[in-house]
Amino acid sequence: MGETIFSKIIRKEVPAEIVFENDKVLAFKDIRPQAPVHILIIPKITEIETTRDIDPNKHEALLGSLYEAANQIAKDVGVSETGFRLVVNCGPDAGQEVYHLHMHLLGGRKMNWPPG
Ligand code: 5GP
Repeated sequence: MGETIFSKIIRKEVPAEIVFENDKVLAFKDIRPQAPVHILIIPKITEIETTRDIDPNKHEALLGSLYEAANQIAKDVGVSETGFRLVVNCGPDAGQEVYHLHMHLLGGRKMNWPPG
């Protein structure tokens, strides 16, 4: 099972600016923010390295928890009404750097489309 920098953040061995935590989900500020609001939302389990590893039979509730956290955080940081973008990079062409499933919550500025 994947051991990444995010595992160390979950175990609080590496510091992070945590903005949300419950039994299933942790969210913290991205160390290299690409927008005024840039938060990473991750499952606390390490078995999902990418979107490809999602098994609806096992992870349906967890995915609901990730979106529930995203909506709550968007409200908490004040971008729920102005809008925000949720991004999940999968694999090399998407530029995935950390192989522990995570959702980027980006907001606080107008986003471009298509993304780079
Ligand atoms: P990916 O490219 O895999 O979708 O995104 C990984 C994200 O994790 C990047 O935006 C990167 O800045 C962020 N990141 C990598 N290492 C750390 C870290 O140690 N702490 C925090 N807070 N973010 C990190």
